[in-house]
Amino acid sequence: MHEVSLAQSVLSIVEEAALRDKFTQVSEISISIGKLAGVEIDSFIFALENLGQGTILNNTKISITQPEALANCMTCAHEFSTNERWQSCPNCQSNDIKVTDGLQLKIVDLIVHD
Ligand SMILES: [Zn+2]
Repeated sequence: MHEVSLAQSVLSIVEEAALRDKFTQVSEISISIGKLAGVEIDSFIFALENLGQGTILNNTKISITQPEALANCMTCAHEFSTNERWQSCPNCQSNDIKVTDGLQLKIVDLIVHD
């Protein structure tokens, strides 16, 4: 399942950061998941909570933010927010648009203690 492998990579990133920065527990993790990233948020949190048991993410509070996706029109250069990947430009109705934000998953903050 997609969400499980994403949760796995988040855990690996945090474990690497912990080795580097010498912390042993994370009390809170904030993750930004774009609206067009195709991630089922509930499944992702469930997967991360499960994988996190007995690790550095044990009992960590997980907060998710979902930033609006942004797209640029290649025809008229209009920038707009969108919730669909294949939307046409609201300004000129062109279908030649490029999604510039809202596709990625990233860790935005970690609150840690030793
Ligand atoms: Zn346009």
